[in-house]
Amino acid sequence: SKGYAWRKSLTIMDIKEAIEAVKSVKPDLIVMVDNCYGEFLETLEPTDVGADVMAGSLIKNPGGGLALAGGYIVGRSDVIELIAYRLTCPGIGKECGLTFGTTRSILQGLFIAPYVVSQAIMGAIFCARLYEKLGYKVNPAYDAERSDIIQIVQLHSADELIKFCEGVQAAAPVDSYVTPVPWDMPGYDDQVIMAAGAFVQGSSIELSADGPIRPPYNVYFQGGMTYDHSKMGSLKALQQMNIL
Ligand SMILES: *Cc1c(COP(=O)(O)O)cnc(C)c1O
Repeated sequence: SKGYAWRKSLTIMDIKEAIEAVKSVKPDLIVMVDNCYGEFLETLEPTDVGADVMAGSLIKNPGGGLALAGGYIVGRSDVIELIAYRLTCPGIGKECGLTFGTTRSILQGLFIAPYVVSQAIMGAIFCARLYEKLGYKVNPAYDAERSDIIQIVQLHSADELIKFCEGVQAAAPVDSYVTPVPWDMPGYDDQVIMAAGAFVQGSSIELSADGPIRPPYNVYFQGGMTYDHSKMGSLKALQQMNIL
């Protein structure tokens, strides 16, 4: 994940190269990859190319939009054991534990997740091509290799960034009447605007858009459980910017 940077996200092959470099110096080092937004983009995952353990969020790609909360860890069994003892207590590990009745939504979400991710990627590609044709810089390009679901569009002004987010909010299935406004967010140096109207609060496999209010006014557009919704978000954003 690249946060609010303007760069290419790491591909599985980039991750492989980094892991090999690190392990050539210290082979017994445990490599952990935070795979948020990266699941199901490529045919391999970080654990296929040398990562010992991988973690991610169930309100992103692998939750399929159905999981209500939570995260996952996966990887080398001895490392998973260590994590389980740390997260619970020695002796218990992952032998027992409460799932608050969420097992069905988590597993059903995981089942549908690769498809949902495909929809989000198609939406990101649509968004990239649409804005590129209108003269905006986008990252990644519509035809570039992708390793996460994030699409950046470089807008021309703070006003366009705000309007873009207003449009995405207007396309939401929940809270579409709400107007997002830039605000001081803990952990950020600039004001940030975030548009999201999701069935699961905080879910970013559902359609959302956000960005810091600073030049060059990049908006980070991601998600959409259906291609149609993602497309609708791109178009509503244009409409709000008075371009459509
Ligand atoms: C979202 C995110 C997390 C946190 O996931 P939650 O399920 O929201 O706790 C951790 N790391 C990265 C890189 C993320 O994007």
